[in-house]
Amino acid sequence: MSLATPELRIDDRVNDFVTRPSKLLIDGHWVEADSGKTFPTFNPATGEILAQVAEGENTDIDKAVQAARAAFDQGPWRRITTSERGKLIWKLADLLESHLEEFSQLETLDNGKPLTVARVADVPLAIDLFRYMAGWTTKLEGTTIPISVPFTPGAQYHAYTLREPVGVVGQIIPWNFPLLMAAWKLGPALAAGCTIVLKPAEQTPLSALRLGELICEAGFPDGVVNIVTGYGETAGAALAAHPQVDKVAFTGSTEVGKMILNAASHDLKKVSLELGGKSPNIVCHDADLDISIPGVASGIFFNHGQCCCAGSRLFIEKDIFDVVVEGVAEQAKNIHIGPGLDPTTDMGPLVSDEQQQRVLEYLAAGLSEGAETVVGGNKVGGQGYFVEPTVLVNTKPNMKVIKEEIFGPVVCAIPFQDIEEVIPAANDSIYGLASAVWTKDISKAHRIAAELRAGTVWINCYNIFDAALPFGGYKQSGWGREMGHAALELYTEVKSVCAKLS
Ligand code: NAP
Ligand code: MG
Repeated sequence: MSLATPELRIDDRVNDFVTRPSKLLIDGHWVEADSGKTFPTFNPATGEILAQVAEGENTDIDKAVQAARAAFDQGPWRRITTSERGKLIWKLADLLESHLEEFSQLETLDNGKPLTVARVADVPLAIDLFRYMAGWTTKLEGTTIPISVPFTPGAQYHAYTLREPVGVVGQIIPWNFPLLMAAWKLGPALAAGCTIVLKPAEQTPLSALRLGELICEAGFPDGVVNIVTGYGETAGAALAAHPQVDKVAFTGSTEVGKMILNAASHDLKKVSLELGGKSPNIVCHDADLDISIPGVASGIFFNHGQCCCAGSRLFIEKDIFDVVVEGVAEQAKNIHIGPGLDPTTDMGPLVSDEQQQRVLEYLAAGLSEGAETVVGGNKVGGQGYFVEPTVLVNTKPNMKVIKEEIFGPVVCAIPFQDIEEVIPAANDSIYGLASAVWTKDISKAHRIAAELRAGTVWINCYNIFDAALPFGGYKQSGWGREMGHAALELYTEVKSVCAKLS
């Protein structure tokens, strides 16, 4: 099989990796699925099979959880020093950095995103996240607390808190940023001292498996990180329901998030969720349009709109509506669509034929309900799962394209009269993940930021991420925050210790 395009030589290690059968990482060993079954992962630029991956199910999940349990309860992981833990996570970041090109290519082949993007965004952000979290291992402190205890007059106590790892964590991740989502999940869990069973998305399992090889190379003790590829309804569901798992961390659709919650509820596992969004992007008439127009276009079209925080509802103040819509449409027309490996590509294919179908169905629903297409609106013919960047206008608040997450390169442009009108409209969503406002009036920007019901507000920028900045959702966009020190709260328990002094 030849993966290369004329423009790019595929890294030998990538060729080697995709041609050897992928296995499951359980207790430090690479093993086949119990059933012996495998499933294919596809190259979305061509629709061809890229690699065969082991299909883990119930019994494989059980073995992985037992390994994680033993590594947590008896293994060396909890007892090695926090400094050693930090060094291992840092070493993983160094290894990832030395394989940056290889991981970028793997991500492009499996997910479809442009290689130019994977090189500067996905892989560097993952490296940075591991380094940021490596620094936290030595800083997870408790506090000493003066207590009075009114019902024991005269007695003295010494009271303090310990911040301890939550235990065995099941982590289920999506396909839109496969390596980065693995890093967002693994980084804080490892920093806190947890052990892990990770289930990557069926569409994009490869970079997580290659990361598993680096985890072994870095020298993490056996069983600390286990990786089981497989389908959501089997492997994912078994992980979310497993009685030996202390906590489940999930990123994906709100619909599946609710299923995770149900599965975890019978034994009240801790749950954190990073779910969908329908993020409002507000352009005020005093915005610098030279910055705002490319900014809002990239807010929706980055990663082909397959971002949970995509700025998919574009609110534009009435007097500049036409000029902004025209400008965004112009940006859309100039986006070069092609295979991710082509260095001239700005936008690659969607991740799967299913996702392409889903986006096209939304576009059809929008048109049938009365929306109009300014630009785009079609799939791109030939092989691969491409959809044109699309701008819709004449939408109504109750249309499917306004209410539901499309997860594709589709933006709905909506005019507004004034701030009093746009705030309730922007907040009129079951979601509350991200939002943005574009204006030169900084007081207005902060006033709007305070009113928006969303976990992130960007001002005069979009899609700005940093390992130190918490990210997560209000409302049905999720529970908990990833990144920053907020993420460590998801993976730790606070223990109060109280001693009576004699
Ligand atoms: P999804 O079904 O929510 O998948 C996310 C992860 O959950 C995958 O690893 C999936 O496994 C797993 N999963 C599926 N069903 C499960 C179950 N019953 N129990 C446990 N785990 C389960 O998302 P999708 O199907 O890939 O995409 C559908 C829509 O979700 C998108 O169109 C988009 O709207 C949204 N989405 C949101 C995000 C986000 O970051 N918020 C990311 C991706 C998708 P398999 O992939 O192996 O089935
Ligand atoms: Mg794939």
